[in-house]
Amino acid sequence: MTDVIAAQRTRTNWAGNVTYRASGLARPTSVASLQELVASTPRLTALGSRHSFNTIADTDAVQVSLQDLPPVLDIDTSRRVVRVAAGMTHSQVAAGLEARGWALGNLASLPHISTAGAVATGTHGSGVRNPSLAQAVVGLDVVHAFGDLVHVSAGDGHLDAHRVALGALGVVTAVELAIEPTFQVATTVHLDLPWDAVASSFDRIMSDAYSVSMFTSFDDRGARQVWVKHRSDEPAPTVDLVALGARPATGPVHPGENDPAGVTEQGGVPGAWSERLPHFRSSFTPSTGAEIQAEYLIPAASAVAALQALRPLEALFAPILIAAEVRTIAADTAWLAPSSERQSVGLHFTFRRDATAVAAAVERIEEVLAPFDPRPHWGKVSAASAERLHEAYPHLSAFAALARELDPAGRFRNPFLERVLA
Ligand SMILES: Cc1cc2nc3c(=O)[nH]c(=O)nc-3n(C[C@H](O)[C@H](O)[C@H](O)COP(=O)(O)OP(=O)(O)OC[C@H]3O[C@@H](n4cnc5c(N)ncnc54)[C@H](O)[C@@H]3O)c2cc1C
Repeated sequence: MTDVIAAQRTRTNWAGNVTYRASGLARPTSVASLQELVASTPRLTALGSRHSFNTIADTDAVQVSLQDLPPVLDIDTSRRVVRVAAGMTHSQVAAGLEARGWALGNLASLPHISTAGAVATGTHGSGVRNPSLAQAVVGLDVVHAFGDLVHVSAGDGHLDAHRVALGALGVVTAVELAIEPTFQVATTVHLDLPWDAVASSFDRIMSDAYSVSMFTSFDDRGARQVWVKHRSDEPAPTVDLVALGARPATGPVHPGENDPAGVTEQGGVPGAWSERLPHFRSSFTPSTGAEIQAEYLIPAASAVAALQALRPLEALFAPILIAAEVRTIAADTAWLAPSSERQSVGLHFTFRRDATAVAAAVERIEEVLAPFDPRPHWGKVSAASAERLHEAYPHLSAFAALARELDPAGRFRNPFLERVLA
């Protein structure tokens, strides 16, 4: 067995706002050695690419990373499914698929995240017809608590629990994802769409193209950027954003404060899905990482009311908000997807890395959004109590029961899960 449990040294998540308490990091080089590790380690937590902003991937025991497992990318063209090693990033998967003429239906803003980590938290992109990335999972291989390697597929009933599993059911080693023939996307950006146009035309704008995002600071500029990602094989967008009061961007823009060189091409230039659906280029680091993110998925029908309710928080946000993004997510079947069983709008906040000020802002946001039944993103910060999470996620109790059944000794429990699954 070539696994190494690395000596403890200070390690953090990507953003640097969480210092891991784990006593070690195991990096198995084969699935068999991962199985041995799981069977012989009382407590361990899977670690992806460290892009979550809370302690979901931390533990006071051992973290296990799959980054040394061999990459796998096998395309079954007849089933339209790709099988990938779970630790591979979306950039790696997207590049491999695009090179062979295939595509995933959607991607998150950042392609650097691991496939298993994105799936485990219900990570999403945007699009009224695009569910979370976990919904593309048609099967997966997972090492369960006794070290047994199990294939979970659509027929056996537990796939919807395993799709978004928060690391609680086992260590996923391979994921099978639905694919489609490659397609082209063109991104155009408009600036400063007034609030009254956002209110009157929100649904039309958000459904006018394959993937649409609005960015706002909740100030008088309204939606200060509207990114419309049009799929070339679909009818052209029809909403005239200029007639609604916006103006076309005259060059590339970054949604936050960084150099626009790091964003995927805009200006309506068609390009491969893999180079347009993420906001950030895989070849660039999207920011310094000195940020903290929070996000809430609410029923799509409440989006305009929720945005209006948040506007009075502009002054609270001003010192710390880098960008807020509004996206749409189609309903999922995954039990714990934030978009589970409801057409959703995601209200996302990228804050400066000021943990105290962000905690205060997050508490206030959650008070304001409470009437809209918000579901916090599993990979971002939230003040929600376990009780509140159980109200927001109707399948959470059934999931906790399944976790106890599959992992009776709590091998995959960490403090985050102890709290959430209580
Ligand atoms: C700059 C930036 C942009 C982002 N953009 C988006 C976005 O557009 N949309 C969105 O929804 N989210 C977004 N996120 C959040 C991000 O997608 C999630 O936090 C995601 O979970 C990160 O994946 P990861 O591989 O880093 O997982 P980690 O943070 O390392 O782990 C997250 C969870 O996945 C579990 N896990 C990881 N690997 C495995 C495995 N092999 N088996 C079982 N469980 C596993 C962990 O145990 C943990 O529960 C963004 C984050 C950043 C930093």
